[in-house]
Formats: sequence, C-alpha cells, structure tokens
Amino acid sequence: MFSILLSSFFVFQSSFIADGEITESYHAAAWKGHFSAQNFQDPTERKQLIAYRRTLSQGMNALPKAHTKQLKKLELRNKAHYSRGMANHEKLILNTGKIKTRDEFMSVFIHEMGHIVDLGHLKGTKGHRTKFRDGKRSIFSDDPSVKFYRISWINDKNRRRGTKRKDFVSGYAMSDPFEDFSESYLFYRLHGDKFRHIARTSTSLRRKYDFLRTNVFNGEEFQTEKQNAQFTHGKLWDATLLPITSL
Ligand SMILES: [Zn+2]
Repeated sequence: MFSILLSSFFVFQSSFIADGEITESYHAAAWKGHFSAQNFQDPTERKQLIAYRRTLSQGMNALPKAHTKQLKKLELRNKAHYSRGMANHEKLILNTGKIKTRDEFMSVFIHEMGHIVDLGHLKGTKGHRTKFRDGKRSIFSDDPSVKFYRISWINDKNRRRGTKRKDFVSGYAMSDPFEDFSESYLFYRLHGDKFRHIARTSTSLRRKYDFLRTNVFNGEEFQTEKQNAQFTHGKLWDATLLPITSL
C-alpha cells in the first residue's frame, strides 16, 4: 500500500531470490512483463496461485493498455507482510499472506497499478521541481499528476487548509498525495458509481474524478449501470476492502 521510495525499494531486492521461485514470462492480456511467484509450494498453494493469476489477468484486461505497459515486473509473494502491496514506477509486489478474498486481491492490485500509473505513466521531466517528492525523487511541474496532487495538497506531506474527510475517497487517501492518487484510481475503476455519487458533495472529489476521466482513462467511465444505495461516505478507511460489484 505504500508508494515505495526508490532507495528502500532496492534494499528489498536483495531478498528477492528465494527457493521455490517460479519465474516465467506472463502472456495474459498480452502483457509483456516479467512475472514471478515465491513460496507457492504445496498443492493448495499452487491452486491458489492459478486463481491469483486468473484474477491478475482479468485486472489487466480491465485497465487501459498504456497502464499495464508501464508495469515491467510483477511479483507475488506468499507471505504475510504488513504491506499487502508495494509499487514504484515499474515494479509491483503483492504479498498475498494477509489477503482474504478475491475482491481484496483485485483491489490491492488495482491500487498498486495506481502507483505505477502515477509514477511511471504520468511523467514529467521539464519545468521546475515542485514541492512534491517521492522519497528523493523530485516531481517536475510538467508531470500531469501534479494537477491532481494540488487539488488537496500543498506538498507531499501537508494537505491544503480546509480539506476535509469528504474530499477524499477513503481515510487512507488522506495519508499523502500518492495514496490519494492510488485510492482515487482504484475507486474510479472499480467503484465509479460510488465515486460519482460522493463527488456531488465535494468540489475536490469532482475535480479528482474529472482528472482521472480526462487524463488517465481517456474519457471512459465505469459502473454506469449501478446505484449505490448502501454506500456511506466517510466510513471507509481502505478502498481495497470494498466489495467489487462489477468490473
Ligand atoms: Zn499505496
């Protein structure tokens, strides 16, 4: 769930090689990246791995090609880690040990894809360095994500004065601008009906929704046939724990 700082990411990599690792090219959804899985050994775990891969394939098919193209490496680790997922601009790790349902697994994957899109797909290299930094990496003013961050944030740690819980899709989205982006990305793709519903009472949410529609999803909208009678905005901490009604 963390937007990984590049420095700490490479520390992780030293422990990547492990016994029982399965490594192969992954062809689902015409994805060309490198897939690996660790620690799926007994028959039950192998079966679970097949189910995970089916879900990943569905998740990739549900996203624009430009998003999955930016994902270069995908790794599943069958272990319980405090963080169920991690991503930087091109690599995504899912720790499956604490993930309980298929919907949760899908949601964590889509959330992490939000980081890949934010940090890898929406990029800037020119202009001035902004007050938004991902670890040691400066984010430049021509990075399209900056427009999104500025809706609720003045820098990567502080929210704009006057922002409220209702201006965020979830409690976790209030952690920092990167989690705001990823939770909003997940909400846009998996809970479009609820996002449109809650955006009626927050200009900030309306702007986040519009940003995602225009700059990230090429105008496409989702869950357009759904109503959202049971959803109470403000109660949800973590968008990955919301059941998925349709893809
Ligand atoms: Zn995250």
